[in-house]
Amino acid sequence: MRILVVEDDDRVARGLVTALRAASFDVQRVATAERALSAPPADVVLLDLGLPDADGIDLLRRLRERPQTAIIAVTARSEERDRVRGLRAGADDYVVKPFGVAELLARIDAVLRRTRTARAEPEREDPPLRAGRLTLDLNAREARAGDEPLPLTRKEFDLLRLLAERSPRVVARDQILDQVWGAAWEASSRTLDTHIASLRAKVGPTPRIRTVRGVGYVLDED
Ligand code: CA
Repeated sequence: MRILVVEDDDRVARGLVTALRAASFDVQRVATAERALSAPPADVVLLDLGLPDADGIDLLRRLRERPQTAIIAVTARSEERDRVRGLRAGADDYVVKPFGVAELLARIDAVLRRTRTARAEPEREDPPLRAGRLTLDLNAREARAGDEPLPLTRKEFDLLRLLAERSPRVVARDQILDQVWGAAWEASSRTLDTHIASLRAKVGPTPRIRTVRGVGYVLDED
């Protein structure tokens, strides 16, 4: 288990490193935010929020971008405000100096247990989306009409999904282009017409993909 100790105070750092190594952790210590960001990934980061070269909360946010790492914020400031800021910025736990080694080890154990449980949990599955006789499996990205699989392209699937989610409301052409093709979409909106035509050919007459002239499209479920 790798632990990164981010602590500018040499005396505090030495004590921590000795205690953590005695507890069989693989420990690396750095004294600055810059070194913390360039250090190899660790399972746990013990992060002193009071560093000379950076705002501790900013550093915490940047370290938080690595989802596999648990972060325990360490601070001399015991104020409620800092604790809340630290937790909001994504710390998994918090210890206030001075703290005992036993307390720290217990907290490390607890965050490791939590992150391991979170990682072991399967990703939450989206329930199937139904519209008339159509069923869209959003996880497998497969569509069926009754029992028949519909061989849709990626864009056709996204388009049908959007219409099914919004049904019985009309979805404006701009919105479709924005959501299915994204902000980078610059080609002619004829692409949308082409996809609607091929989608209609695959879905058949029911549920009907109806054109609302000058506005967009709507999926009529019955
Ligand atoms: Ca410090």
